[in-house]
Order: sequence, then structure tokens, then C-alpha cells
Amino acid sequence: MKIFNSRQAVHNYLNELRASGKSIGFVPTMGALHDGHLSMIKLAKQKADVIVCSIFVNPTQFNDKKDLENYPRPVEDDIRKLEKVKCHVLFIPTVNEMYNSAEKWTIELGNLDKILEGKIRPGHYQGVTQIVKKLFDTINPHYAFFGQKDYQQFMVISYMVKKLFVKIKLVLCPIIRETDGLAMSSRNIYLSPNDRKNALALFKALNKVKEHFKTKAILQIKKEVESYLKAAPGIEIEYFEIFNANSFAVTSSKRPASLIALVAAKVGSIRIIDNMILK
Ligand code: AMP
Repeated sequence: MKIFNSRQAVHNYLNELRASGKSIGFVPTMGALHDGHLSMIKLAKQKADVIVCSIFVNPTQFNDKKDLENYPRPVEDDIRKLEKVKCHVLFIPTVNEMYNSAEKWTIELGNLDKILEGKIRPGHYQGVTQIVKKLFDTINPHYAFFGQKDYQQFMVISYMVKKLFVKIKLVLCPIIRETDGLAMSSRNIYLSPNDRKNALALFKALNKVKEHFKTKAILQIKKEVESYLKAAPGIEIEYFEIFNANSFAVTSSKRPASLIALVAAKVGSIRIIDNMILK
């Protein structure tokens, strides 16, 4: 695997491969890689010739300084994992390589950065779009892979790509879970054994939604699952919603072509998010 820290160097290297007819697949991450990330690399390998992974803990998307400081950075382990799945290129820049000190620019994201995650984490999606735009310009891939785990993020990136005429095909990758159902996340290592058990309530809640989806009305399901979540020990719900998965707006109708249930909660001091596509 080739490792680059410099924007210009990785750009030049990939440009040459692109010019020689190779397709480029890009998997952006913040590192502390788990099987969810690695499954995206494997998926990317089925679609593209050259796979580029980036590891960058993006400061502009953190609204909690402590969370940024504490974010795990096991770089040596990450490199070993990427080599094992035969990733071709790793781009791992410093903060100074990606940002000037006093950079301030935003992208209009409609309602997307004002609801759910956007409401709880003000500025988060502006930070996400800033870094993803810069990474897209640097890597210039044919395909970019994003996890369904962060479904709202996928909607935000899709919006940006459309709005700025970015010629990159976005691919949504399935959520990879632990054997008991907890969605894998780099932050899960910070859950105490007890919180780890309590955290399962989110997956269980989503399963309840799915289970009742055919037989009960959306509002009824919402009411029941909300009470389940409220009664679940050790978790504090931030939101639980059923959305039209295409318009990304709340709905109480089953008519939209695709529906998704989304949940976020604090388990101890750790935020956990999860979702499930219902149709
Ligand atoms: P992160 O490193 O957490 O910023 O995530 C990088 C990418 O991996 C994002 O597109 C996430 O949606 C995706 N991802 C995170 N967790 C999972 C998971 N459990 N399964 C599949 N993809 C994931």
C-alpha cells in the first residue's frame, strides 16, 4: 500500500493512474478502523481498480472539543488492517495540510443540517462537507463510498454533489454490526461493559419498528417504540423518527417509496446512532 501525507503528491499519483484508464474508488474515514470500514474497502474493490482510503480526524466537524481530543487514533493498527484487505493507497494528511488557520466557508444544505444530527450537532455537516469537498478535489475518484450508518451524512453529501455538479458516483454501503446487533462504531470502545449492554436497546428498538411495520400504523409504531426506548435502562434518547428516506422528511404515511427509522441516544457519555431501512 502506498501512503501519502501530501495532497499534491497523492493527487499527481492518482491522476496518472486515472489517465491510464484505471477507475478510482474512494473510502473516506476518520480511522480507528473496524469491520464496517473494511467492508466498504471490500465493496469498493468490486467496483473500482484502485482503492484509496483516507484517514483524517476532521476538526471542523466536531462541536465538542473533548470528543475531538479523545477520538481514537491507532494509526499503526489501521495501516495493518488496510494492508490486510489490500487497500492500494492511504491518504493520511495533517490538519495543516487540509486547512488554513482562519478558514470560514459554508455550503447551503437546505434543511439537512438543521434537523436530527444537524440540530444536535450545530455546524457538524458544514465541517463534513468542507472536508469531503477538499478530499474529493484531492483524490478525484470515480466512486466514493459512504456508510448507511451515517445515513443523514449520505443525504448531505448527495445534496452537495448535486448542487456543485461534482462528477462522482456515490455508493451507500450497508451497516456492519457486532454479532449481537450493535452497529460498529469507532467510539464503541469507550462504552463501559454495562453501557455496552444498554446500547443494544437502539438495535432492538429498530427491530421492533421493522417487526410491526406491516401490521401497524406508523404513528402507533412510533408511540410504542418511543415508550420502549424511554423505559430502556441507561440510555437517554436524543431522537427517534421515521422518515421518507428519499426526501429526508418526517412522514406518517407508508406510501413513500422508501422509509427509514433513525435513532440517536446517549449511553453514559457516549453518543450512539443507528438506523434501519424499512422499505
Ligand atoms: P467514520 O470513520 O466514523 O467517519 O466513518 C467513515 C465511514 O465509515 C462513513 O461513511 C461511515 O458511515 C462508515 N461506517 C461507520 N460505521 C460503519 C458500520 N458499522 N458499517 C458500515 N459503515 C460504517
